Amino acid sequence: MKYRYPLLASAVLGLITLAGCSSWLGKVNIFPVEQDVALGQQVASSFETGSAAVVLDSGKHKQLYGYIYGIRDSILKTNLLVHKNDFPWRVRVIHNDTIQNAFCTPGGYIYVYTGLMKYLESEDQLAGVMGHEMAHAEKRHSTDAMTREFGANLLLELIFGTNKAQLLQVATGLAQLSFGRDAETEADNCSVDWLYQTSYNPVGAAGFFEKIQKEKNQVNVPEFLSTHPDPGNRVANMKKRWSEKGGKPGQTYTERYKKMLSFMP
Ligand SMILES: [Zn+2]
Repeated sequence: MKYRYPLLASAVLGLITLAGCSSWLGKVNIFPVEQDVALGQQVASSFETGSAAVVLDSGKHKQLYGYIYGIRDSILKTNLLVHKNDFPWRVRVIHNDTIQNAFCTPGGYIYVYTGLMKYLESEDQLAGVMGHEMAHAEKRHSTDAMTREFGANLLLELIFGTNKAQLLQVATGLAQLSFGRDAETEADNCSVDWLYQTSYNPVGAAGFFEKIQKEKNQVNVPEFLSTHPDPGNRVANMKKRWSEKGGKPGQTYTERYKKMLSFMP
C-alpha cells in the first residue's frame, strides 16, 4: 500500500499524456506508466487462468508463435514506440475460430484470436491489426478505457491484488472494452506510421476493413468492429496518411501467410 500515495499524487498533478502518431489527444491518465504493466500483468494472468479462454501453448505451437513474434518484432524494431522497452509486448493466441478479434491489455499483453487469423488474408493485414492493438497500449488508451469502465479505485485494488474476484470479471470483460473515436483514429495512424518503417504494406489494417466492407452483407460482422467503433472513413484516412508520407509500397506476404495458416490448429 505504500505506493498508493505517490500514485495518487501523480494523479492530482495530472499526468498529461500527450498522445501522438501526429494527433495530440490531451488526456489525463491517472496511472504512472509502470502501473500499466502491473495492471496488464494482473489481468492477463487472471484472463488466462480464470476465464474460459483457451490460450495456445507457446511451447507446443513454436512455428505459429515464431511467426507472430516476427510480426511484433518488426513493429518494435522501428523504434517508434516510446514504451518499446517498458512493456513486455507478450503475444498469446486464443484458440477460438468463432471470434474475429484481437486486443491488448494495458502494458502490452497482446491477444489474437485464431478466428481473426483465419479471417485475414495476408500477413500485412495481421501486422496492421497488431500495430493497431499495440497502439492502444502504447498510447495508453487501454488504461483510459479501463478507468472509464471500471473506475480508478477498482483498478488500484486490482494492481495491488486486493480484489481477486473483481479481477477476473475485469479480465474477462477486457475483450469487450471499447475505445473512443479519437483513440481509434490514433491507433490507425500509428499502425500506418509503424508499418511504413517495415517491409510491410503500410496500410495492411485498411485491407482488413476493406474486406469487412466487401463482405458485410454476407457474413457476420467481425467482433473487432464491436470493440473498435468505426471512426468513419477509416480506410480513406489510413490511405491518406500513407500517401502523405510518400505512398511507399510494401509487401503483403500473402503466400507466407497461407503457409502459416496451414500449421494452425
Ligand atoms: Zn482499436
